[in-house]
Amino acid sequence: AGGGGGPAPDSGVQVVVRIRPPCRVEEEEDTRAPDYCVRKTATNSVAIQGQDFTFDAVADEVSTQEDIFKLVGLPLVENCLSGFNSSIFAYGQTGSGKTYTMWGPLSALSEDSTCSERGLTPRVFEQLFSRIKEIYNEQITDLLDPSPKSLQIREDVRTACVYVESLTKELVFTTKDVTQLLVKGLSNRRTGATSANADSSRSHCVFTCVIKSESKNLEDGSNSTRTSRINLVDLAGSERQKLTHAFGDRLKEAGNINRSLSQLGNLINILAEISQSGKQRHVPYRDSKLTFLLQESLGGNAKLAMICAVSPSQSCKSETLSTLRFAQRAK
Ligand code: ADP
Ligand code: MG
Repeated sequence: AGGGGGPAPDSGVQVVVRIRPPCRVEEEEDTRAPDYCVRKTATNSVAIQGQDFTFDAVADEVSTQEDIFKLVGLPLVENCLSGFNSSIFAYGQTGSGKTYTMWGPLSALSEDSTCSERGLTPRVFEQLFSRIKEIYNEQITDLLDPSPKSLQIREDVRTACVYVESLTKELVFTTKDVTQLLVKGLSNRRTGATSANADSSRSHCVFTCVIKSESKNLEDGSNSTRTSRINLVDLAGSERQKLTHAFGDRLKEAGNINRSLSQLGNLINILAEISQSGKQRHVPYRDSKLTFLLQESLGGNAKLAMICAVSPSQSCKSETLSTLRFAQRAK
């Protein structure tokens, strides 16, 4: 993982909490008691039920998509261009704003590329394309070819690379190429929603971009190639998956989601510890498919950002508290 020259990235994990604005129903509910369950109290802290939590930054209802990009996207792109792997995860209960943050509304992707509501991913690519010449895109869960096939994660023993077998790969040249792929992938995610696990509350959606950059050494004329990856991950809803009335595959699936999210939390925790203490310890990448798949872009000098999305609504209080605890643990 990582490698190459350039400045060493900050150690640790950047944890940002984003409180979305109340939606219309919530606003109406709360006109009588307009005290939302969670409140930004400083640039980097929130209060909920008399408890304070501190993170790297807190975004609230006045924060724009551009603010989030400047805070989280821009540093990751620069990091990636210096040859280090970078990942952004959006964590939070269903309805808290993960998809809005990572991609933005579909209409903002397809209609007007300058729409202020476009999310992190299109902005990351705009920045990348303004900085580099050649870029490869690899879509992991094969949303680009949704015909049923079983995708196996494989490891190349020679290079120790982890990859998904027979996945669609597309070469892209412009931001528009990328947003078109995104729109295609995201609409496949939506239409596939009837086949249980394609529902966005019950599946992780991973968008990986592999960047190869070649540079020429002016002194001896030699070429060197650097490869880095950027992962943009819209995680499954973090709410406790309902086990009531679930049986068979659905029951197994509910358990898997809870487990893969908590394993991701553990892993991030361990990586943050390693980067703080400088001591090596075992990192349990193989505990879940998600972490196994992303393993080469998570360790080493990789830069990670976790955006924890929360709803301001009183009705979401206990899930919001549990998201903030998860976020705190990742620090
Ligand atoms: P999730 O992906 O976590 O289930 P969504 O991203 O779909 O949640 O957000 C739920 C709803 O809230 C959507 O209608 C979305 O457009 C809206 N929303 C989320 N975050 C914001 C925000 N920061 N500003 C305005 N609307 C938002
Ligand atoms: Mg979503």
